[in-house]
Amino acid sequence: MVLGVRGRRAGDASAKPGIVRGHTNALSSATGGKEAARLTPVSKRILGTLDGERLLEGVVFLTMGLKIKSIAVGVRQDHAAGQAGACHRPLRPAGHPAPFPQCGSGHWSPARGRADWEQVSRKLGISNRERAMKAVRVHRYHEDPHLDDVDEPRIDGPWDIIVEIGAAGLCRTDLHIVQGQWDAIQHPSLPYTIGHENAGWVREVGSAVGNVSPGDTVIMHPLVTCGLCLPCRSGQDSHCENAVFPGLNVDGGMAQFMKTNARAVVKLDPSMLPADIAALADAGLTAYHAVRKAVPLLPPGAHAVVIGSGGLGHIGVQSLLALTAATVTVVDTSEAALELARQLGAHHTVVSDPNAAAELMDITGGGAHVVFDFVGEHGTEAQGLAALRNRGSYYTIGYGGKVELETLSIISREINVVGNLVGTYTDLVELMNLTARGLVSLHTTVYDLADAVQAMHDLDAGTLVGRGILVPQASGSSLQTH
Ligand SMILES: [Zn+2]
Ligand SMILES: [Zn+2]
Repeated sequence: MVLGVRGRRAGDASAKPGIVRGHTNALSSATGGKEAARLTPVSKRILGTLDGERLLEGVVFLTMGLKIKSIAVGVRQDHAAGQAGACHRPLRPAGHPAPFPQCGSGHWSPARGRADWEQVSRKLGISNRERAMKAVRVHRYHEDPHLDDVDEPRIDGPWDIIVEIGAAGLCRTDLHIVQGQWDAIQHPSLPYTIGHENAGWVREVGSAVGNVSPGDTVIMHPLVTCGLCLPCRSGQDSHCENAVFPGLNVDGGMAQFMKTNARAVVKLDPSMLPADIAALADAGLTAYHAVRKAVPLLPPGAHAVVIGSGGLGHIGVQSLLALTAATVTVVDTSEAALELARQLGAHHTVVSDPNAAAELMDITGGGAHVVFDFVGEHGTEAQGLAALRNRGSYYTIGYGGKVELETLSIISREINVVGNLVGTYTDLVELMNLTARGLVSLHTTVYDLADAVQAMHDLDAGTLVGRGILVPQASGSSLQTH
């Protein structure tokens, strides 16, 4: 049997195990004195810091072929400290040799092992380079982000999850961040990693996490929420009083790894590819959320008008067709966007010109029941309000403009103005259901993570077709991620 202690990830050339013979007595007894031990200098240093009992535990664990990250030393201490209730892991693996590190109830926790590894490596001053990853970070506003080598995120709390990023969507919000527009609202400390539309594979989980396991394919709700405040308890994740927003106010997903929590991950069928779905985590979710809220207002025979059929709008059109039997009319200045809307199944399309208002009145037989404004500026606000029938609702998803409305008009027409912010966790689950069934799909252009700045320039210049998706696989030739 090979006693292997490997570096931060499989395939890392610097962490190839070397053969060590004649280690300590504890090691010898743990392996029955028959096995050759393969240890890196790093692992020797780590094992050298452990006392007899913990050394034995670590060695036994290693002989089972598990990586150093999963050394279960310290588990016994956790449970002795009364935290056994948080331990959800299954009973020790069948066929393992005794003594196996375990708590009083016979459970074990690889996540604790990771935490111990972090602690030990910090104590020994092992180079951060061993846990380095690539990340796209904003250093200063009005300046292109940099592709940096930074530390991998770490599990700090029992509900934390580290996700290996499979894809991160590029959003116009990322351009706004670089321009400093979000600074006053989100107050991130620079430098930090952007990217708020993320999907990938679970890499590590905190000790309390039971809804996903390492290896699971996941998409992440954009907010990391607490689950305890009243908005969370009523399912309104976007309004959590204690949320952080990776990519906006803490490190996001334009990197090889990202930290989130158990509440944010939606487990997906392994056949779903992160690059196909990542942008649904925010752009798609926001569009779906607005449509989902409006479903009771759109019975068969009702009219929905969609203003702007771009990155969000084209998801809105598909969501409307999947969730309602309403007649869907799309307004846009771009003929290409209207052509895409027709291909997706929109019933009518209208070029946004001076005749559009009359055309919309005609198509909708006197006004829409609901207008979805995915632009929210440059005059679409007035255009949307004018397209409503009495008792109609103007749903704004785009932003930047201003709704100007006389109160007399509001009461005499009994119209509603409705804001829409991201979406709930259940919205994301429902959207993933539609996606898995082929009812909603994203049009994308894939870039390597290392080309993030180029992708941002293309988005800014209007030459990026579909949604830009950043994939980290090929980034950093010295780092093998998968
Ligand atoms: Zn976004
Ligand atoms: Zn909350």
